[in-house]
Amino acid sequence: MKMTSGWLELRTRHTFTIARGGSAQWKNVELRLEDGGLVGRGEGAPRSYYAETPEAALSWLEARASAGGLPAAPEELRRESGPASARCALDLALHDLWAQRDGVALHEWLASRYGLRAQKRWPRTSFTIGIDAPDKVREKTLEAASYPILKVKLGSSDDLALLAAIRSVSKAVLRVDANAAWTVEQTLDLSSRLVELGIELIEQPLPKHDLEGYRALRGRVQIPIYADESCVGPEDVEKLADAVDGINIKLSKCGGLEPACRMIQRARELGLHVMVGCFIESSLGITAAAHLAPFVDVLDLDGAALLAEDPYSGATIPRGEIHLPDARGIGAVPTAARG
Ligand SMILES: [Mg+2]
Repeated sequence: MKMTSGWLELRTRHTFTIARGGSAQWKNVELRLEDGGLVGRGEGAPRSYYAETPEAALSWLEARASAGGLPAAPEELRRESGPASARCALDLALHDLWAQRDGVALHEWLASRYGLRAQKRWPRTSFTIGIDAPDKVREKTLEAASYPILKVKLGSSDDLALLAAIRSVSKAVLRVDANAAWTVEQTLDLSSRLVELGIELIEQPLPKHDLEGYRALRGRVQIPIYADESCVGPEDVEKLADAVDGINIKLSKCGGLEPACRMIQRARELGLHVMVGCFIESSLGITAAAHLAPFVDVLDLDGAALLAEDPYSGATIPRGEIHLPDARGIGAVPTAARG
């Protein structure tokens, strides 16, 4: 099997700002596996918050290529130890190959291999509005007018002003993500206004390790709370069961589809809702994640829709509806400009 890895440099249309800061430039890693006339592709998004760097992710992939002996089945992926984003690129490229070899789309392969039950109606994805000045937020909301669900990044100096700016021009379903910026008291103070504004869910209000704080919010906030930063991999699902209503799974955070499918199964057993989210990623990573749509409750897969230029084409999200490519495997291909 031939293994080629490299950078995937991405630029967003607007500077994308969350509670921890913002950027318009993002560096991901990509991996191409060639085997028996088939090409499998994977992407990983290394993020410093999770103590990962693009350099470490790429060197792990390069070292992995020279070591050889790649996993022949999903269970063998559990033996890989390295940055989650790099393991994600490897996991995606292998799943892409395995599904193509079996002649089916990735979501069909996942359903049968991991015993996941597919729903007839797939959830729609939200589109994210990053933190900005209220007039800029209003402008971004108008640009996003075709999306019926917006996810609003909060943890700014005046969160209610941002929500008011959005509500002044949009009737969309709103979800909020504080990216760990609030305290228990702030969350309780804001929650009655959030209920009045019809906020559908709150993502990660409290710091990553504040599970006590999450338990303190139980029964006191009338809006479902989802853990994102607090839920990195399969080992985190169990301990969140009595603290939150749902978890946000991201392929680059947990290490790919194999751990993601285990997390979905465990969350179901524990009665947790499941969201699939993303980082700023090309349509390669986003399309792989979009294949999880049949198995989850909530989607936040706008990472490629926020890009100025997308080096891959694959799933699209018109009006928030997930449209997967008609192809075997993941089905994402490099755009013509990229060659
Ligand atoms: Mg989040």
